[in-house]
Amino acid sequence: MSVAPVRKPKPQSILTVQRTEWLSPAMVRVVAGGDGFASFGRNDFTDRYVKIHFAKPELGLVPPYDHQALRETLAPADLPVTRTYTVRWVDYAAQELAIDFVVHGDEGLAGPWAASAQPGDTLVVAGPGGGYSPNPEADWYLYAADETALPAVAAALESLPADAVGMAFLEVEDEPDRLDLTAPSGVELVWLYRRGATAGTLLAAALQQASWREGRVHVFAHGERESMKQLRDVFFVKHGLERSQVSLSGYWALGRTEDRFQAEKKEPVGKILD
Ligand SMILES: Cc1cc2nc3c(=O)[nH]c(=O)nc-3n(C[C@H](O)[C@H](O)[C@H](O)COP(=O)(O)OP(=O)(O)OC[C@H]3O[C@@H](n4cnc5c(N)ncnc54)[C@H](O)[C@@H]3O)c2cc1C
Repeated sequence: MSVAPVRKPKPQSILTVQRTEWLSPAMVRVVAGGDGFASFGRNDFTDRYVKIHFAKPELGLVPPYDHQALRETLAPADLPVTRTYTVRWVDYAAQELAIDFVVHGDEGLAGPWAASAQPGDTLVVAGPGGGYSPNPEADWYLYAADETALPAVAAALESLPADAVGMAFLEVEDEPDRLDLTAPSGVELVWLYRRGATAGTLLAAALQQASWREGRVHVFAHGERESMKQLRDVFFVKHGLERSQVSLSGYWALGRTEDRFQAEKKEPVGKILD
């Protein structure tokens, strides 16, 4: 009988919120640091991300959370839960990092937490993980993202050389949600405004019609899960790209909490690539 390997929990850094800044009507930046920053690891991926741990305040749990031990004493509904967020930037000299949160209403944990975060609040993060950096050997770069992947795309665009070329399709709710991004002049930024349409639907349509450049492309496409499934056909069926040319995944799924979304990765509905 095979025994499932026990995954070693990632160390948690216990940060303190330093300040917050609204970047648009639906996106708030939380800058965190403090003494706990010293244990925060390094990686050079432009999509580096953390798992934020949220515990119910009324339980008075003290971080770092020992999930294994807590499972023995707490009801499942009382266990701390995690949410995944891109680290928009890290300033090791200032001992700070920034996370840009989409504020998507009253539902959920992370969005409402960020909307009301105050200096002095605790932010418990594990990581960073990551998987993408622009391939310097690519001839051009293609980005497709909704708001949740905007921080990762913003970091990638900033890291490109000045002579890089390509396109970035960025879907947001409406014009005020557009952010000022720093990108090489040869990378065209195409903003798509949903204005009430279902999240992700504009991305698929825009990518279907996008004019394709000559040469080898490196793609970074992330956002709502169903829209990413539609992009899969654009990249692999229409344009015949190789897997190694494409970073593609769902960052969230409509109507699912992140716990459910992550659990569904093992089910057919949750799979984007085989
Ligand atoms: C690698 C990675 C990096 C990510 N980086 C970022 C990031 O930098 N910034 C960011 O904002 N998000 C990011 N996300 C997405 C984020 O983890 C999810 O949106 C998450 O579900 C939000 O948690 P929550 O507690 O606010 O809502 P949950 O409790 O997970 O969900 C509650 C409800 O809100 C809905 N919902 C969740 N997110 C959204 C949304 N964005 N718009 C509309 N409805 C939503 C759900 O479908 C559900 O119905 C990232 C995800 C991954 C996997």
